[in-house]
Amino acid sequence: MSSTTPRPKLSQLCELCHCRKAMIKRPKNLQKICKLCFYNVFETEIHNTIVNNKLFYPGERIAVGASGGKDSTVLAYILKLLNERYNYGVEIVLLSIDEGIVGYRDDSLATVKRNKEQYNLPLEIVSYKDLYNWSMDEIVSCAGIRNSCTYCGVLRRQALDRGAAKLGINHVVTGHNADDMAETVLMNLLRGDVARLEKSTTIMTSSSGSPIKRSKPFKYSYQKEIVLYAHYKKLDYFSTECTYAPEAFRGTTRELMKNLEAIRPSCIIDIIHSGENFVLREKKIRQQFRKNPPKQSTESKGGPINEEIEVRADGSISLNKKGFVDGNRCEKCGYLSSNKICKACMLLEGLEMNRAKISIDNNESIDGAAKVVRTLEQLTF
Ligand code: SF4
Ligand SMILES: [Zn+2]
Ligand SMILES: [Zn+2]
Repeated sequence: MSSTTPRPKLSQLCELCHCRKAMIKRPKNLQKICKLCFYNVFETEIHNTIVNNKLFYPGERIAVGASGGKDSTVLAYILKLLNERYNYGVEIVLLSIDEGIVGYRDDSLATVKRNKEQYNLPLEIVSYKDLYNWSMDEIVSCAGIRNSCTYCGVLRRQALDRGAAKLGINHVVTGHNADDMAETVLMNLLRGDVARLEKSTTIMTSSSGSPIKRSKPFKYSYQKEIVLYAHYKKLDYFSTECTYAPEAFRGTTRELMKNLEAIRPSCIIDIIHSGENFVLREKKIRQQFRKNPPKQSTESKGGPINEEIEVRADGSISLNKKGFVDGNRCEKCGYLSSNKICKACMLLEGLEMNRAKISIDNNESIDGAAKVVRTLEQLTF
């Protein structure tokens, strides 16, 4: 500090180093701290999350799911920084998905391409159009905007897997932050989706149908702090929202959480903490057998029905047919799938049928345009 700069008053000092002027009120705990201490605590907390959860091992190659938005930009920057600072010994590659959303993804991909140069990291871009022969714009024009995020989510998941597999990488790291995680916990809680609720706070996930694992080093990082970090570090990121807004229920849950955060900032971590301690009660599952089980136990020959009855809390039951072994391949696209046909192919099949239906209806009569609109309105997915 130069001799001409007035010394800050004691009450203005950083609560951590007690020597520099506090510039930031930390959204996470309302602590007043200086910029350098903010960088330090923010980076150290992420490092601790990585180490405590053993997210990486030396020599591992990881793909950062990079969208050009604030979360993934800060993630790529910080992972590179921490990798060098703490010698994780990991190799980082940027992996981007081009969903084909004009005016949104094309601009954000331009940001990722600049990040590639700025951080000197290799970049791989995988597009929906190349993989599925459908862009998101085409999907929305065929199926409407209402379920756009459902389609996009399923297709992105597989696209990330395929992109990583192409790179010979089996670990995708994403920029999901504490707000996203708390929002998901709340959403699953509100709609009674207990199976998802139990898994919604897992930091490292792997699915039996995919060899690619995923992790979220920002699990405990607040969105507001990520934005502050990007702002003070002058990182180059893209901040426009997707043209197809998130589904209404998620949007409402987000609002609810923002309102809760305004009166109790710790609620984001508190919700995650609650989610972490949420364990499903053992389900009442009974194996159902036919009355006279014959000697041969195959379903076609009348052996035990390969079904389980799950008795739900409200007394209703659901039948879970087994039969497809995890690790199977999709009959249509050949990609790993625990079902006969993977989810992406199922959605695409529906789209193809609708496209055909629309084109037939369109040629049938002179008021074709009105009919197409009607047909689109009636479609359900
Ligand atoms: S908001 Fe929905 S449609 Fe847009 S990129 Fe996200 S998931 Fe895809
Ligand atoms: Zn300080
Ligand atoms: Zn498939």
